Amino acid sequence: MRSAEVIVIGAGVIGASVAYHLAERGCEDVLVLERNRQPGRGSTRRATGGFRAQFGSEANVRLSLLSREKLLRFEEELGVDPGYRPCGYLFLAEDEAQLDGLRAAREVQREGGLEEAWEVGPSEIAEINPAVRADGIVGGAFCPTDGFIRPMEIVRGYVESAERLGVRFEYGTGCEGFELDGPGRISAVRATSGDVAAGSVVNAAGAWAASVARDAGLDLPVEPLRRQAAVTHPFDALPQDMPMTVFVEDGFHLRVRDGRVLLLLPDEPDSVDPFDQSVEESWLRLVVETARERVPCLRQASVDRARCWAGLYEMSPDGHALLGRAPETENLYLANGSSGHGVMHAPALGQLLAEIVADGTASTLDTHALRPSRFAEDEPNLAQKLL
Ligand SMILES: Cc1cc2nc3c(=O)[nH]c(=O)nc-3n(C[C@H](O)[C@H](O)[C@H](O)COP(=O)(O)OP(=O)(O)OC[C@H]3O[C@@H](n4cnc5c(N)ncnc54)[C@H](O)[C@@H]3O)c2cc1C
Repeated sequence: MRSAEVIVIGAGVIGASVAYHLAERGCEDVLVLERNRQPGRGSTRRATGGFRAQFGSEANVRLSLLSREKLLRFEEELGVDPGYRPCGYLFLAEDEAQLDGLRAAREVQREGGLEEAWEVGPSEIAEINPAVRADGIVGGAFCPTDGFIRPMEIVRGYVESAERLGVRFEYGTGCEGFELDGPGRISAVRATSGDVAAGSVVNAAGAWAASVARDAGLDLPVEPLRRQAAVTHPFDALPQDMPMTVFVEDGFHLRVRDGRVLLLLPDEPDSVDPFDQSVEESWLRLVVETARERVPCLRQASVDRARCWAGLYEMSPDGHALLGRAPETENLYLANGSSGHGVMHAPALGQLLAEIVADGTASTLDTHALRPSRFAEDEPNLAQKLL
């Protein structure tokens, strides 16, 4: 039987980052199994490429700050530009309660080490993003070091560097289950290409992580949640460096990417299939109407229907990643449930999980808040939700 010291399931941005960081720490025998023919073809390529440290929990702020540090060194370390551009995130409040929410989040951000976010009033908002219709906006929050990243370039950087360090990527190969050494230990991964004996296994299967975990007897609280994105035809009335602009009221947000405007509006999918990734016409009409009302110049823009897409978030019950050893299986590790922030947090999560696998504990950051057992212990993370 073939074997590997560590088998990573999934070559999205998280699996690629974990594999790279394991190899970088000297683990010489890492195998990544990916059922698609290429890396990043799950949720990663569907991300809009936002990066922010403006979160409502210290745990997420700290993950973002560690990731940002690593993104700034990414090109030097890995030879690929991750596309980090600090164009800012502008959050907009339409009433005092929303503004109070942003203020409370900023306190948490300070505790987490983010100093450079500040409150903005209507006149500053008009300077930062003059395209936004001003009436109805009472204030907001802005952080200039938030901004944008290129998800598929980050994957490419990690995959290519991991391969240089000896990591094997096997594409077109799914994990279909595990051989267990009695309860509590995986001895082999049942892959579509044959069984592979495993020292340890990392679940990096994104929105599909619960089904991988189930095969190992673990009930993992990670569920898919569809998110849709509308794309305009090329449109030059909004600048390329416009900050990500987010309306706290309903989470509507927009950015410019490659000369087109991306429009996003969270909704509750009513599809029977939780893995459905279709774009709904009624949602498209609503997002366009919302955009035109709040950013009047978009009345001149039209949606390029063929380029609109949907993808899946990997939601955990408290909106935070589950990171660490699985509670009941001694050699199964989890890097799951990033809840829609997986690209921006992948640099940090990959490093931290590699530390946990190699040393039993993370040393760069305290990951206690992300321990997978927190739900069973009834200690989920509490956070001010911003988006
Ligand atoms: C519309 C949209 C916008 C988003 N915007 C952002 C954003 O601005 N910023 C941000 O940080 N995040 C964003 N996200 C979230 C981000 O895309 C995810 O958090 C991230 O891609 C998760 O990475 P992953 O590696 O865990 O998952 P994936 O990229 O999905 O990778 C998991 C991989 O596991 C593979 N796999 C699954 N099961 C098996 C199996 N049994 N055997 C073998 N392989 C398997 C899959 O094929 C897949 O390639 C967005 C998501 C969507 C849908």
